[in-house]
Amino acid sequence: MTVINGKFTVNTKGNTDIVDITRLVEHTVYSNSLQNAVVHVYVAGSTVSVTNIEFEPGLLVDLPEALEKIAPVEMEYHHDATWHDGNGYAHVRASIVGNSTMIPLIDGALQLGHWQQIVLVDFDNKPRTRTVYVQIVY
Ligand code: ZN
Repeated sequence: MTVINGKFTVNTKGNTDIVDITRLVEHTVYSNSLQNAVVHVYVAGSTVSVTNIEFEPGLLVDLPEALEKIAPVEMEYHHDATWHDGNGYAHVRASIVGNSTMIPLIDGALQLGHWQQIVLVDFDNKPRTRTVYVQIVY
């Protein structure tokens, strides 16, 4: 088993900013000219997620609206009572959505659906710089 570690950074606006990172992941993977591998994409941080979505204007509104129903910004959170950083909702959302995704690389191609993009979703209540790790195992 061989492991290749790649990474890149993403600047976000926070507040459930959804950033398409598909091209950055593809660049990291395809620069290694591999045929078959497991590709893990992971973001470090407890108020940010990595997931998949069809990156189109409707869903860029639908996903934040759905998460607002589950973990509203204007709700009282025990986290905020302890830390006073006002981002309890961001931690809850990030836990639910998760912070990694896996895409198989088969015959030199990442197996993403035609309408499936890889996105970073930053829930924190301020702009952030996030580090995304792409670990390729083959
Ligand atoms: Zn916090």
